[in-house]
Amino acid sequence: MDNVTPLGGDVYEIDTRMAGYSGITAGYLILSDRPCLVETGTSTSAPVVRDALSSLGVGPDDLATVVVTHIHLDHAGGVGDIARYYPSAEIVVHEKGARHLADPSRLMASAKKVWGDKLDVLFGTLAPTDAARIRALGDTGTIDLGNGRTLASHYSPGHAKHHVGLLDSLTGDLYVGDAAGVYMPETGDLRPATPPPDFDLDVALDSIALFAALKPQRLLFSHYGPVEDVPATLERSAEELRIWVDLTKRARDEGLDLDHAVAMVRDRTRERYAALRGDDAIAEQFELLSGAPSNVAGIIHWLDRTPR
Ligand SMILES: [Zn+2]
Repeated sequence: MDNVTPLGGDVYEIDTRMAGYSGITAGYLILSDRPCLVETGTSTSAPVVRDALSSLGVGPDDLATVVVTHIHLDHAGGVGDIARYYPSAEIVVHEKGARHLADPSRLMASAKKVWGDKLDVLFGTLAPTDAARIRALGDTGTIDLGNGRTLASHYSPGHAKHHVGLLDSLTGDLYVGDAAGVYMPETGDLRPATPPPDFDLDVALDSIALFAALKPQRLLFSHYGPVEDVPATLERSAEELRIWVDLTKRARDEGLDLDHAVAMVRDRTRERYAALRGDDAIAEQFELLSGAPSNVAGIIHWLDRTPR
């Protein structure tokens, strides 16, 4: 299938075709003895992901595990549907996200507040998952991929308080979710993802430092794809966070309201991203996944509740 890319080590990148876009939100299948899906994509992506798995020979009873890096709807919106398609699969998530997968009503209500009418088109509706099928992870945890291979989870808050990174013992791949930002393979751009209400700079920087300390061989971004130059990329992740926070702080100190703060930060960061200089379609993808309004609002939310 044209939305499935083999990455080596029995790992397959699946373009979930979020909201009909290509190349913005990935899921990954680890086709080990106990096949594991990392990230489901949105609810509306679930049939796309199912087709991809079936093209790889993974039938309804074959999937052992579904794990999500965090429960934002672009990563976990399809969990309920995927759990229904694959009745033997265990659903694995950080303990701070587990209850929202069992009962998504609060999560969906707050998403509705943020996205309004766009919610259905972008994400669809997260369906509930039987709590008995959900395994909650603590600060660390392990997923059995079979034949001695494991996926180790590492709690990595900052982008979201229920975020984990996942390290493959065989390949050294680290699934970074959104904790290292949003990467654009077309241009090599990397932008932070700092949405409200959980963003916290210090915590986010600690998570990036933890990722570096794990010495992964490769980073697998949910947005989007593999990156081999690990140390430089993680340094860039941290640098981007600091730049966005510094600029937002400056706008806030000048007394700008949110709209003007967004305009200022957008303006002063624009030249950092090749994506924003060229193709409008790629610029639009950035705005969808790590939009300046969401990033600046998240940073201001953090500054407002952080005495300094
Ligand atoms: Zn995301």
